[in-house]
Amino acid sequence: MSFENLKLIEPILKALKTEGYTTPTPIQAQAIPIVLNHRDLLGCAQTGTGKTAAFALPTLQLLFQDRMAHKEQKAIKALVLTPTRELAIQIAESFTAYGKHTGLKNLVIFGGVSQNPQVDALRRGVDILIATPGRLLDLMNQRFVHLDQVRMLILDEADRMLDMGFVNDVKKIIAKVPSKRQTLFFSATMPAEITSLANTILTNPERIEV
Ligand code: AMP
Repeated sequence: MSFENLKLIEPILKALKTEGYTTPTPIQAQAIPIVLNHRDLLGCAQTGTGKTAAFALPTLQLLFQDRMAHKEQKAIKALVLTPTRELAIQIAESFTAYGKHTGLKNLVIFGGVSQNPQVDALRRGVDILIATPGRLLDLMNQRFVHLDQVRMLILDEADRMLDMGFVNDVKKIIAKVPSKRQTLFFSATMPAEITSLANTILTNPERIEV
């Protein structure tokens, strides 16, 4: 199995070569075709499995192909929600590395720091926003973030977001994302509360477990 077999396109394959990735991890081999097929995904996976690339690579590819097909306005097209600042930064670094030949811009926002640089960056326009729920909701309430053009929604470490008390913030954020979208939902554990949240957010998802 190679990344070429997964039908990834040249700008992404080139970045993977730079990263030194030669073989997809099991979650990547399973998730990438599902996402490229425009299906919703429910993934049970821990960190360290290559989960970030499993959602970032096909997300970059779909957005890149959309951009090639028609000129688009500046707007957030993919939103990644994740529980902590550290995870948010790591995910953004991954999008930057994997997307360096796509021309797609990402931005990471999180709480505990001044919002001004984040607001300035939002004004310049981003394709992919990676955020922790509290700060995102804050900026949405101040009308600095608009999610009406989001067509890919990714929830990372959903169980930790719930444990950290973000469930209401997450629900309020998702209520502002168009329902006509593709949703990828990842959690390390699948207790009843997570399954029921997933059921309200996902449409006919494919399930994978690694
Ligand atoms: P993650 O589970 O997304 O936090 O990724 C864990 C680590 O594996 C990160 O340091 C990635 O850079 C690395 N990684 C992800 N996919 C691959 C791959 N296919 N080949 C080699 N390393 C990878």
